[in-house]
Parts: sequence; C-alpha cells; structure tokens
Amino acid sequence: MELTQASNEQLREWETALAEEYQQYQASGLNLDLTRGKPSAQQLSLSDEISDILGGDLSNEANTDLRNYGGLDGILECKELFAPVLDVNIDEILIGGNSSLTLMYFAVMFAQQQGFGELGQSWASENTSTKFLCPVPGYDRHFSVCEHLGIEMIPVTLNDDGPDMDEVEALLKQDSSIKGIWCVPRFSNPTGTVYSNAVVERIAQLGKIAGDNFRVFWDNAYAVHSLSDDAPEVASLMACCRTHGTEDSVYLFGSTSKITYAGAGVAFMGMSKANLKAFTKHLGMTQIGPDKINQLRHVKLLKDAAGIKNHMRKHADVLKPRFDIVLKHLREGLGGTDMAEWTEPEGGYFISLNTLPGLAQEVVKLAAEAGVKLTPAGATFPYGNDPENRNIRIAPSVPTEEEIERAMQVFVNCVKLASVRQRLA
Ligand code: PLP
Repeated sequence: MELTQASNEQLREWETALAEEYQQYQASGLNLDLTRGKPSAQQLSLSDEISDILGGDLSNEANTDLRNYGGLDGILECKELFAPVLDVNIDEILIGGNSSLTLMYFAVMFAQQQGFGELGQSWASENTSTKFLCPVPGYDRHFSVCEHLGIEMIPVTLNDDGPDMDEVEALLKQDSSIKGIWCVPRFSNPTGTVYSNAVVERIAQLGKIAGDNFRVFWDNAYAVHSLSDDAPEVASLMACCRTHGTEDSVYLFGSTSKITYAGAGVAFMGMSKANLKAFTKHLGMTQIGPDKINQLRHVKLLKDAAGIKNHMRKHADVLKPRFDIVLKHLREGLGGTDMAEWTEPEGGYFISLNTLPGLAQEVVKLAAEAGVKLTPAGATFPYGNDPENRNIRIAPSVPTEEEIERAMQVFVNCVKLASVRQRLA
C-alpha cells in the first residue's frame, strides 16, 4: 500500500507490526556489513594465478631490467593492454602503481600547485579559490581529495544519463575559477549511471567554455565491470575530444583494483601527449619508477581485451546474484509503497537508494542498532552533506548471499519503520 493513502489507524497498526519485527532483528545479534565497495575474497581468488605467473621470467618487449628503477610511465606491454580500456593511444597512457586514487590526487595537487605545462600556470597562482563541480550523489573519496587540497566543491545534479549538462555549462560560463569536474562515466559510484553519448559529447566540449586550465577528471573505475554482456557502453571521451580539439582538457583514470587485486593491482591514466609530458615531470618528483614486475604479471594474466572481458565475466558470475538479492528485497518490500526509490545498475559495485526526505540518517541508525552496518548517510555528497538527507549507498559485493538476504530484510524493515513513523509524526 502507498504510505500517503494509509489512514492513521492503518499507520499505527503498521508501526506496531514493523516495530515488533525490528525488535526480533535486534534480539538476534546480527553483525552484517553492506558498506564495503571492495571485491570479496571469492572475487580476489579469480586472479590467484598471478602470484606465480612469471615463473622467474622477467623478459619484456623493451628488454629492460624490470627489477630496477626507471620506466616512470610504465612498460609498453601494459600500455598496450590498458590503452583500449580508456580508448586512448599508446603514447597517451601512463601505467602507475596500485591505485588510481593516488594518480587522481597527484593530478589535482600538481595542477593546484605546479601547473600543467613546462611554464604552466597553477590553479593556486590565479589568486581565486579553486572550485570543482561534483555530480551528486558521487564517490566520497573524490570529495576527500578536494577537501584535503582546499578545493571548494559545488554539487551538480546527476541525471539518469549523466551530469545535468545545462547546469554544468551554465556554472562554467559564469565562474572561471571552476577548474575541474569529477565524472564516473560508466556504472557511477553509487548510482550505476552510464553517461549517454550526448552527455559525453558535451563533456568533451567543456574545455572550450571553461576558464584556463580546466580539466575533466574522468574516473572510469568501472569501465569493464558490467554484470551482463549487454550492459550499455560509454562513448569514448578522447575520441570526442579529438573532433573538438580539446584533448588537453581531460584526464582519464582506471585501475585493476576490481579486476585483479584491490590492494595489488595496476592503475593507469590517459591524457594528451602534452599533459603526459607535464604530468610525468611532476610525478618524477615523487618516485623513480613504478612496480614494473606487477605490471608484467598483469599482462601475463589478462593478455588482451578479450582476456579482460573473459575475466570480468567471472566477476559478474559472483556479483550478479548479490545484486539480484538486493533488488528482489527492494522490489518486494518497498515496491509500490512510495517510501523509497532506487537504481538498478547493470554494472559497478553499488545500488543507490533514496528514502523519503529527511530519513536517510534515521534508517542508517536503525539498521546499525539492529546489526546491519551501512555507509554513513551523507557520505555520497561533498562535505558529507546530503541536503535532503535521503541517499543511502548499498554495497553488496563482500557479504555472502545468505548475509545479504538477512541484511536486506532488516534494511527494508528499517526503511518502512522510519517512513511510517515520520508519517505518523
Ligand atoms: N574511483 C571510484 C569511482 C571508486 O569507486 C573507487 C573505489 O571504490 C576508486 C576510484 C579507487 O580506485 P583505486 O583502487 O584504483 O585507487
């Protein structure tokens, strides 16, 4: 039944039944966790072959000694493997260490403090406060990078087909101190949004309307992470940029954190040749070279685009049933109640749910007190501030299927209980 159509008496009966159910969950001593957007042990094991894959053979195309320093931009074989993931040329990619977040942090920091080119102008030297556009809900660690580096964040609406481009363009036209925008173009964290071709086309042109030294931070963390073979693709940003002459206005990121090992993968960054030259110059101040042996291991394990696709199907086999359980509980428990709306992603790691306005914190608190841990409400917004207090991120990759079944029963109960109580109040 829809909440708005229930009489006060029905609401009171509902509340009593829901509260009883809630108390039973509380009494059953649960300890479940839907917070962690990381691969399960079962998924990590899909790559276990990697640890012995080299068998002592460190030979590589360039015949360099991979054990030694050097090769700041990564080994050629690895560039050939991952350039197609970002759809950039071989001379437009850098292969780094184990974390794309580190590359993102460096990119923002270098731009803020050192600037891009040989004589590049830093954002900080412009004497205005640097600002970033943040499509919301979004990835909390993008927001932490900005906060840590003193960059002001402006939330913009994330629609079903990507950021609201009218809003983005209007803001950029009126404020040249906006120097960046965070984008997760395929299976966004946490909504699972895939940007439409029209949105990608407009993002590729932002460099023409923004102030100097603007960059799109294109975090394609879930580029190959679909739950089925027919999930929507995202258009190639760099290809669009080439048609508009805006290649210098974008940085593209990716990693194998959710392909092989989250703690021991390989991260990569795509950019124009001019940007690559400036970026590696700055990066060279922080290290002498990345772990090239791990890069070679990844080449041996994944081989090529077909190898990556094949490997990702195995992840989907583990993840899809988990997503299905979450969605089954949401549909059966909350469908037609007007108490919540949620996304049904075709890839990535998360499901995003909006409660009725004002209830996200209460639902997270109720769930925690019944033994189900959820990502803190607000985490998906800059400064932890969800103005409507509605958004909750659900991460089903780590718990077992049985644990998700149980956790989702509790979660649905908490959403209903909070909604009915709010209506009664
Ligand atoms: N980008 C997004 C959108 C993510 O969701 C995550 C991890 O959850 C990362 C980046 C982290 O990437 P990495 O492990 O390569 O640092």
